[in-house]
Parts: sequence; C-alpha cells; structure tokens
Amino acid sequence: MLTMSAKAANVRPSATMALNARARELSRAGEEIINLTAGEPDFDTPENIKRAAADAMAKGFTKYTPAEGIRELREAVCMKLLKDNSLEYAPEEIVVSCGAKHSIFNALQSVINDGDEVIIPSPYWVSYAEQVVLAGGIPVFAETPCLDSERIREKISAKTKAIIVNSPNNPTGAVYGVNELKSTAGLARDAGAFIISDEIYEKLVYGKAHRSIAEFAKERTIVVNGVSKAYAMTGWRIGYAAGPAGVMKIASAVQSHTTGSANSIAQKAAMEALTGNQATVEVMRKEFEGRRDFVVKRLQEIGFRCTKPEGAFYAFPEVPRAMASTAFAGFLLDNGVAVVPGIEFGSDRHVRLSYATSMDKLEKAMELVEKAMEGYASRCKSVGWQK
Ligand code: PMP
Ligand code: GLU
Repeated sequence: MLTMSAKAANVRPSATMALNARARELSRAGEEIINLTAGEPDFDTPENIKRAAADAMAKGFTKYTPAEGIRELREAVCMKLLKDNSLEYAPEEIVVSCGAKHSIFNALQSVINDGDEVIIPSPYWVSYAEQVVLAGGIPVFAETPCLDSERIREKISAKTKAIIVNSPNNPTGAVYGVNELKSTAGLARDAGAFIISDEIYEKLVYGKAHRSIAEFAKERTIVVNGVSKAYAMTGWRIGYAAGPAGVMKIASAVQSHTTGSANSIAQKAAMEALTGNQATVEVMRKEFEGRRDFVVKRLQEIGFRCTKPEGAFYAFPEVPRAMASTAFAGFLLDNGVAVVPGIEFGSDRHVRLSYATSMDKLEKAMELVEKAMEGYASRCKSVGWQK
C-alpha cells in the first residue's frame, strides 16, 4: 500500500490562504462577497520598485544568485536593521529567502531537533505550529495576547528550544512594549532557548513604536522581516532573517538544498524597496490607520467587543456568546462578508477581519455586518448577543 509521510499528512493547509481562495472563488462564481480574509495590502507595489525589477530583467540579471542572497541586498538589510532597529549585523548574518514565511521555516529547520518544544504565544499566526511540527518539534501554546511573561514562564520546560514572538501581532494587532519584550528575552536566556522574532508588520504601527526583542537578546534571536507588507510586495516573495552567524550558516545551507536563492529579479526589487524613497510606506500606513479607526468604531457601534489594534491590518472582535468562531464566520459569509474564524489562530471567541481593502468595501462590509447582526438580535431577543 502507498502511504504518505505521517508528519506531512497531518499538516493542515494554511486557513488564511484557503479562505482567501474560497472567497475569491465565490466572487468569481457570481456571489457578492466582500473578502476581509486577505492578509495582504490591497495597494499595488510602488513604481520605483517595479522599475528596479524591470531594469534587472533588461540587464539580464536573471541567473541563480548565491543561496543566501546577493551581497548588496544583504548589506541593504544590515543598513535597515541598524537604522530602524539599532541592531548591528554583518552581511554574513543575513539570509534572504522566498518570503518571511520561508525565513521562519529555515530558522526552525536550523534550530529544532525531534521532540524539542517551541513556545507560541496565543493567539498566533496560522503557520507557526505547522512549521514547528514539520521541523520535528512540538508546539506549546501559551495563552497570552499581551506577551505576559508569567504565562510564558509556565510553559517553559527542559525541552524548550525556542519562543516565537510576533509583534506587531497577527491576528490581534498588539504591539509589545519594552517591558514585555525584556521579560521574554530574560526567560529565553534563562531557558537557554532561541527567540524567533517575526517583525513582518513592523512598519504598520499606529502610535506605539515597534521595538525588536533582539535589542535585549541579540545573541539568541533570529529576527525575521521582509518586504511583503511594508511595500505591498506579497507576490514578489522576498523575506529575510538576521541572527547569530552559526544559525544563519545552517539556514543558508538548508535553503541551498530547497529553493536555492530567492528570485534574482525580486531581490533587486527588494533592494530598491529598502534603499529607495520610503514615502510610499507612510502613505500606505496612514491609509491603514484611517481604515482601522473606521472599522473598529463601526464594529463597536454594532455591538462587538473589539480592542483597538496598535499595528498590522486586522481587527479581532469577539463573536456572540452563543456561537463558535467557525459558525459565526459561516453566518457572516451567508451575509456576504468573508472573515477568518479565530479558532485558526487559537481563539474560538474571535473572528479576524482584514482591513487591507478599500474604504468603499469596508463601508459596505460594515453595513452588511450591521444588517446581519440586527437580524440575529431579533431572532435571539431573550439571550441578546451583545456583551
Ligand atoms: N508572518 C506573519 C505574522 C504574517 O502574517 C505573514 C503573512 N503571510 C508572514 C509572516 C509571511 O509573509 P511573507 O509574505 O513575507 O512570506
Ligand atoms: N499573512 C497573511 C494572513 O495571515 C497571508 C496569508 C498567509 O500567508 O497565511 O492572512
């Protein structure tokens, strides 16, 4: 009999990607669906970045590059980390990969042995746990939306090998402060564990400054970032990691046997993104901030409990008491709005709405949600759905 890898067969497809595809399919089939599942900027990639890619192609920059990425791009990443995060790295400590998702995968492959535990603060982004399992590790969830170090401490064991930190956070939008980051860094140090710090939403903060946990534990932290969110470049597939030279050497070797280098043309585009005019980043950030204010205000007016996210581009409201998150997401889909059930991120009490879509669509979506909730409220008068 033909059997599959038990480890791989247990991996569930990425729910965020699957639901996004499903919502698009329904729209194509003629249903009027407003898709708030997508975790990607709706903006087009800025022109200067596209031009850099066109130039690279015209000049024949179309061959393999070193697995870890072209030196100029790794130097540009070092400059960015120094300027934005006051972190000093050498190009040898940088590996450029096919998206931040790939950088996290390489980092886990490089540090995890079979049976090692990786602490994942919950709610969490969908790919962490599956990637830990693929690396042979065991995900250990610590329920702590605000990176409470006591909740993390409770989960530390002799097998703890790494802690994943994601700030700004997907799905909650939390941006962790210096105290939480310092405490978590201290815990990792005491446990002899690595930290994988996913900072892909760094540029999308709305008042609170982003800080990297590497400032407090650089010797054990692998910083992951990329160009997907800040420069509207999700399809270009460029991410990068910075970390201790020994780890990055292994990450580069792992990558050399899988994808080889990231796309040569996209690397040139990413270089322009990091070193070129940064004005578009602020234009997009401002637009996201306005949308966040609108969506959160409307959700609260409708009756949802919803904290104001400090970063990224997701709102994470609580679902009505009587419903699980999947049922509620199904209910909203029946009413024309696609969202992601919180259970996919470890919380069945929430759903995730992406506001990385036009204001017109957000206005229409909020009208549809309001109408749906009015209908729901009139059907369950005795219980009421509002908290
Ligand atoms: N981390 C988080 C928290 C994300 O939301 C995403 C978006 N998919 C990624 C990493 C991966 O980004 P990239 O497109 O660079 O692979
Ligand atoms: N980061 C996005 C999300 O969480 C993109 C989809 C994915 O890569 O999972 O929706």
